Amino acid sequence: MSAVHVRAPGKINLALRVGAPRPDGYHPLATLFQAVSLYEDVVARPADDITLEIHGRGADLPTDSGNLAVRAAALLRETSGTEAGVHLTLTKQVPVAGGMAGGSADAAATLLACDQLWGTGLGREELGELAAELGADVPFALTGLSAMGTGRGDLLTPVMSRGQYHWVLAVQSEGLSTPAVFRAFDEIHGYGAATAGTRGSGAPEADAGGPGPDAGRPGPDAGRPGSDAGPGQAGDEAGETDADADVAGPDDAPRLDGEIVSALLGADPLVLARSLRNDLEEAALSLRPELGDVLAAADRAGALAAIVSGSGPTVAALALDAPHAASVAGVMRNADVAAEILTVTGPVAGARVLEHVGRR
Ligand code: ATP
Repeated sequence: MSAVHVRAPGKINLALRVGAPRPDGYHPLATLFQAVSLYEDVVARPADDITLEIHGRGADLPTDSGNLAVRAAALLRETSGTEAGVHLTLTKQVPVAGGMAGGSADAAATLLACDQLWGTGLGREELGELAAELGADVPFALTGLSAMGTGRGDLLTPVMSRGQYHWVLAVQSEGLSTPAVFRAFDEIHGYGAATAGTRGSGAPEADAGGPGPDAGRPGPDAGRPGSDAGPGQAGDEAGETDADADVAGPDDAPRLDGEIVSALLGADPLVLARSLRNDLEEAALSLRPELGDVLAAADRAGALAAIVSGSGPTVAALALDAPHAASVAGVMRNADVAAEILTVTGPVAGARVLEHVGRR
């Protein structure tokens, strides 16, 4: 095969509940992910070594093992025992350090692309296990659509969703470090010095600033109960629904409100708008007070609701339909509160092969 082209989506957290940090420094999470139509494209070609070039966003990102895509290829090579290499051409649309898990999407796309290129033949479940080793958000980028994430966000349960939701994204030119946002969260909630320097969906302090070598390495409780969720479940319905949404977990683990899971079934953005929630929003706002202006601008523009996505600083504003999204986007552009205003829809499929070139 001469090339494989894989595409993986970024995500929005429709709900993100964060618990008190555990002794190991990780915050238990309960989140509802929606994959949205902002994509990372990876083209994998045969090579002697593992190399990477980056187009689109992220010109300053490392192209060595500091990059999650390179790490994903190296992990698959090690696991499969292949001696093959790969040249990866990555085209990034998802904002870097934007709270939309772009790096995780790169890792997911790379795992799938290299699996196809090298013919390692791992199933979705095995790729999911490697994904969880690379970072807490990587398994979701593989499965896409809508899913509940517990543990560090990596224990996935597919959630049924009907209809398409229309979002306006306000993208900032400068990202926010996820570990820094979790530190601010700890300060706000008085979790104190004993737990300072922790993060929710990655590794403790050592990798502050991005997924370091141990990023998101799953703890002893990591597993993948939702590993059967995959883009194979096409259409706008995926897997089972747990309308009660009382996610199983330790007693002190955060839980999602069942209302938001029911809202996705109803295909009514007005209902979903009432249920959006992000426990990290206050922390992101404390580090980037001007995000308050973005949220206010979304409100003035007539958005149904707006939230900071994940650890921010991207703000996601929900619209009624495509024309309404275009109108909200136009007003928000004029408000001049973000580097870019984009419109996307969700849910969309997870990592998928778009093209095999030169398959024999
Ligand atoms: P999350 O919501 O999962 O915390 P994010 O969207 O806020 O992630 P990313 O863009 O995924 O942030 O990654 C954040 C950091 O990870 C970057 O600032 C960079 O230091 C490091 N990194 C390593 N590889 C990549 C990659 N391929 N793309 C983006 N960032 C990467």
